[in-house]
Amino acid sequence: MKAGTAVPRTAPPRDGGQSEAGKGSTPRPASPGQRGSSTSGNGSHIAENPAFTAHYIRSRIGKICVAITGATPADMLENAERIVRENHFVEFRLDYLPNPAAILPRLKQFLYERGEVTAIATCRRASTGGKFKGTIGAELEILEKSATAGVHLIDIELQTAEHMKPAQMKKLRSHGAALIISWHDFEGTKNLDAILDRILPFQAEFVKIVSTAKTLADNVAMMRFLDRRRDEANLIGISMGEQGIISRVLGLRAGSVFTFASSLPGEETGAGQIDARTLRETWRIDQIDQSTKVYGVAGNPVRHSLSPLIHNMAFRRETVNAVFLPLQTSRLNDLLTLTREVPLHGLAITMPFKTEILKHLERTDALSGKIGACNTVVRALDGKLYGFNTDVAAVIRPLERRLPLRGAKILVLGAGGAGRAAVFGLVEKGAEVLIWNRTAETAKKLARQAKAKTIRREQIAKSNFDVIINTTPVGMKGVKPASILEPKELNTRLVFDLVYNPIDTPLIRMAREKGLPVVTGVEMFVHQGARQFEIWSGKPAPEEEMLRVVVHALRQESARQEPSKDR
Ligand code: NAP
Repeated sequence: MKAGTAVPRTAPPRDGGQSEAGKGSTPRPASPGQRGSSTSGNGSHIAENPAFTAHYIRSRIGKICVAITGATPADMLENAERIVRENHFVEFRLDYLPNPAAILPRLKQFLYERGEVTAIATCRRASTGGKFKGTIGAELEILEKSATAGVHLIDIELQTAEHMKPAQMKKLRSHGAALIISWHDFEGTKNLDAILDRILPFQAEFVKIVSTAKTLADNVAMMRFLDRRRDEANLIGISMGEQGIISRVLGLRAGSVFTFASSLPGEETGAGQIDARTLRETWRIDQIDQSTKVYGVAGNPVRHSLSPLIHNMAFRRETVNAVFLPLQTSRLNDLLTLTREVPLHGLAITMPFKTEILKHLERTDALSGKIGACNTVVRALDGKLYGFNTDVAAVIRPLERRLPLRGAKILVLGAGGAGRAAVFGLVEKGAEVLIWNRTAETAKKLARQAKAKTIRREQIAKSNFDVIINTTPVGMKGVKPASILEPKELNTRLVFDLVYNPIDTPLIRMAREKGLPVVTGVEMFVHQGARQFEIWSGKPAPEEEMLRVVVHALRQESARQEPSKDR
């Protein structure tokens, strides 16, 4: 710790040191009646209850602080009741209330009754990114009253702190709550050291620096900063935004004391915030340590990718100390920087990088080279990156389980990345492959390269196939037309649709109506993911479990989108 910037970390807690921090029992605020009388401006409260120190608070809290919002005091407290059942460390975002002072009497009662809860009060003004429309004076008044109501920490912005007179700061700190001084940058990730240098003189128990990640590499900047300065203050460091998710998960091991989470998906108080259950159960944030290997799905978009779900589940189930993150970027250089700096141990590659990544790999398997696309990267023991294509096996194996491929007549619709994987894999297995693509020239080129044939659209209805495979995105929600083929064109013994969201695409439904057996995109998705898992971990993939979680997630998503169908 730097001289002159030390904050007291070992002073007794606010209950005079009588509590059993670390033993599960925590001090309760005095009864609501007592607290009101002992803090009525004479300062007696300070002597009775010395300030909670950062050290003491750190011993009470976990790694996740859940932000609580609400449109009314009743709403906010109802949410609080629900949230504290699973999370004992919470932040009351008082600025979300039209009249924050109105909640204080009930908040006092709430905290009195729940000694296990550690609470932050925040009333961030609109000018610093919050919702509170009042003045600095009004903000401070609410925070002081929150402290006397029993909250353990109060959060003010650096701008507020710098505006306050020493006497105001003294008064704010006289109520026994620890202080967090925060900084939010909604534009980017820059000047982190300079901001900390501005905050340190205030000797707050905690320092919260929140930037915005515009690139994946911004997470690296945040984590390097945390690592470099973690001994100078109790730091909380996060990068907001879709691209900042990495900092929310890995920031803790870099030195962030805790991280913030939303109570539920859709109730975020910061861009890119993740709900507490996902952080704990999917990403196992409590178990991430320095030896946790980091993997991710890279591309644009990856927001709704189900890869984190299946891989994190598989890592947990097979007790692999690893975490799998969504890596949202449209710049390959950005991805490569992150891969090098974290470092990442493996990548699931999706659009638009499947081809572009090849030249950055030490070597690839034979099929990736031939197809010109790679969907799996692994960092080998030599530290170098190697590429594989698990899409090929994921098309071939579900088919091989159902029919012999040698000599089978197979129509492949589409000639993009997935179409190329299907065509090369099937030709290698001795199938007779016919390609139809919206852009005929692309189909011809692929047919030449893979030694397959093309077929004209009008020929499809007149032909019979053993298998028809859709490798276009047609069938995905929002993609027009809804179905790639008409019923009269479905002259085949088996239909395989690579689209997996929804599970039952129009093509799959049409096939079922004709009594045809089907292979869904989910089966392929799980298969390609299972092979990836095996490449990364060297362990057999828990394929059935992977399938179960994907199907569950997709069914839940479709139920959310079409609630009326369930009624
Ligand atoms: P891609 O490289 O962009 O190729 C898309 C292909 O679909 C191209 O041949 C394109 O034809 C064609 N296409 C696009 N929109 C069309 C439309 N409206 N009508 C007719 N044809 C259209 O994409 P990709 O990576 O191959 O992925 C394609 C689909 O496969 C996606 O839905 C993806 O989710 C799915 N997929 C699933 C899995 C799985 O595990 N289940 C794995 C990989 C891919 P043009 O040449 O004319 O543009």
